[in-house]
Amino acid sequence: MNCPVCKHRECQRSRRRSYKDHALGLIGLLPWRCAGCELRFYATAVPLSQLFYAHCGQCGSLGLRGVPRESVVGFFSFVGRALHLPALRCDPCRNNFFTIRPLRRPESGSMTAAER
Ligand SMILES: [Zn+2]
Ligand SMILES: [Zn+2]
Repeated sequence: MNCPVCKHRECQRSRRRSYKDHALGLIGLLPWRCAGCELRFYATAVPLSQLFYAHCGQCGSLGLRGVPRESVVGFFSFVGRALHLPALRCDPCRNNFFTIRPLRRPESGSMTAAER
């Protein structure tokens, strides 16, 4: 991640602190802090091509599975429940969250395999 101002390469994820941080997190923007100029900015954790699919907001993983809505806890969980969004879980970082994006389909097409 490069700093948008000084182009410093050592930018680190910053903790989500404010309402704005969580709101932007819902659309895939995460807070970062530049080690060079101390700038705090927002950027995506995953490539743009993957942004259109559901992904883990913490590690960017696309390996997710559906879980009951009740398993999502936290600041914004009531929003997802109110909107009946699908709840997903990222196993590597044990992150349960709601998403408004479609899950990426597995590459292997199992739809046609059963046809005779
Ligand atoms: Zn910077
Ligand atoms: Zn994750």
